[in-house]
Amino acid sequence: RVKEKWAATRPKNPPTRLALQHFDATYSVQLGNLWPSVRVALLSERKYGALVNNFSYEAVLANLQAQGCRDFISDTHTETQSCFEQDKAVEADKELGVSMKTSVNNSQQHSALQLSPSIKCVVFPRGDITRFKPARPDMHGLLGYYLMDAASVLPCLALDVQEGHSVLDLCAAPGGKTLVLLQTQAIRFLCLNDVSVSRTLRLKRVLNSYVPKQFLSDEMLRITSFDGTKWAEVESNTFDRVIVDVPCTTDRHSLMEDDNNIFSKSRTAERRRLPQLQLELLLAGIKAACPGGEIVYSTCTLSQIQNLSVVEQAVYLARENHGIHLEVVSLRPLTHMFRKTFHFTPDLQLGEMVVPHLAANFGPIYMCKLKRLT
Ligand code: SAM
Repeated sequence: RVKEKWAATRPKNPPTRLALQHFDATYSVQLGNLWPSVRVALLSERKYGALVNNFSYEAVLANLQAQGCRDFISDTHTETQSCFEQDKAVEADKELGVSMKTSVNNSQQHSALQLSPSIKCVVFPRGDITRFKPARPDMHGLLGYYLMDAASVLPCLALDVQEGHSVLDLCAAPGGKTLVLLQTQAIRFLCLNDVSVSRTLRLKRVLNSYVPKQFLSDEMLRITSFDGTKWAEVESNTFDRVIVDVPCTTDRHSLMEDDNNIFSKSRTAERRRLPQLQLELLLAGIKAACPGGEIVYSTCTLSQIQNLSVVEQAVYLARENHGIHLEVVSLRPLTHMFRKTFHFTPDLQLGEMVVPHLAANFGPIYMCKLKRLT
């Protein structure tokens, strides 16, 4: 690389600056008073979570906990359990004529969502910006944990994979969410796809570093590099669960890295086409799910045009053009459970969004869950 100091060709407006200008113009309107604090967090060092690899032979979780981390998912289980017990006591009180309405409402929210107990992701406490050390291989060469934005685990939890499900991950590379889904060890058949051949190779490398070979057999796993928008040409009405984690403006990356930046002038057309591509991918995911099946759409951008608007249009077009009726599944119980770990945008009309915050610098992650009624 050319030393920046000497580079005469460094553009006056590098892509990172163009990205910031674009975000200032759009997100100050979209997020209002929230934007200045989100902006500061986006421009600061991000925080990671370590997804614990259940396939590893080492005592990974205990080691990480000894370093001061906590599993934000099981912590919530404990919280939920105590809430539940509190609510049972409230129910008993009610029979005795004592009313505590708020608590009972909480219990209804919590019980609406099941979380796989096998998914564990540890984070350092709020405000603690300690970095994780790189994961080490165990005696079989499997790595103990995978570093990722902890908020990226949420779309996988929202997918609610159950024993025996067939699952499609339509845009799977490099495989962070795939690894989360595999931790459940509940999936009967997993189909992984990504249009990019080089990224699909990276996905395969990730799988080989984390998952024993017997879990990667052809009977359990299929990996393809198709254009996901044309998935219906391969199969439709098939999968119990579909995750559509689309390419987007990757807001954090776009503010930090000039290399491979979607705001570079040469990629303007590609960037402008993103919402259309996202819509086509979500529609393909919807068609790939079976009636009764569930789909989670996710991005790592704050953009309303790439989030909410895409979902709205997909729901409309699925009904008008394909006769597929969908219901939006509320993820409010999920945001309620994880409100101590992440900052969520309040009162989003459709779906939920983790917004970066200096004390909990995860996200942005947008997610929306749909259920096929027909
Ligand atoms: N789910 C991945 C994870 O958790 O590691 C990240 C996915 S990334 C946000 C989006 C991916 O979509 C990229 O790997 C990109 O190659 C892929 N992609 C872009 N266009 C696609 C298409 N038409 N069909 C399938 N995949 C596509």
